[in-house]
Amino acid sequence: MIKINTSHILPDTPYLLDGTEPAEVLELPADADPPLAPAGDITYHLSAIMAGADLIVTGSASVPLATVCARCLDDIRVPVSVKDLCFHFEKVRDLEVDLTEDVREELLLAVPSCFYCSPDCKGICPVCGTNLNHASCDCDRTPAEPGPDPAAPSPWDQLDALNFAPEKPAKKKAPATAEKKPAKKSSAVSSEKKPAKKSSAVSSEKKPAKKKSSGKK
Ligand SMILES: [Zn+2]
Ligand SMILES: [Zn+2]
Repeated sequence: MIKINTSHILPDTPYLLDGTEPAEVLELPADADPPLAPAGDITYHLSAIMAGADLIVTGSASVPLATVCARCLDDIRVPVSVKDLCFHFEKVRDLEVDLTEDVREELLLAVPSCFYCSPDCKGICPVCGTNLNHASCDCDRTPAEPGPDPAAPSPWDQLDALNFAPEKPAKKKAPATAEKKPAKKSSAVSSEKKPAKKSSAVSSEKKPAKKKSSGKK
């Protein structure tokens, strides 16, 4: 148990608490993926001060864990540490405060989701399973399908075209579209002046006819 009796803490003097704790208190799950097991004790370096009746504890803790490399599946031993522990207990003057559960939680939160034997682990050959850190093989490991072409347009490019800016750009756009529309109309009229007149004449004749027929019915 990692305990501090606040009656031992002198005013204006940090109370230092260094020690080790069996890693079993971590209660690591037996079916963890990747497998996790303690490979040594929890080591902690804590500094406690009283602020009125409150206890403030800062410090660090670490524990070595046995697990496997996520790339090459080698058994590895990795340290998990927390360097910025900070606990605050209210109204604990002249009380014994147990920090074990707090340190346990912080260490478990610091456990990464996967581990590597080294940052440049070469992994295993997907064809023959050779650990490429220890040996090499002659397998053809070129991927069957080429990866995505970096020059190809991405579907996310459309997001770049979106404009979320307020009012000002919107006002600029409005006259731009207003200019375009008349330009389209004039070109259409100039190229098809005669058909346009005919069609308008036809449509003007048809419309009244429809109105009359509908009116009779
Ligand atoms: Zn590895
Ligand atoms: Zn191979």
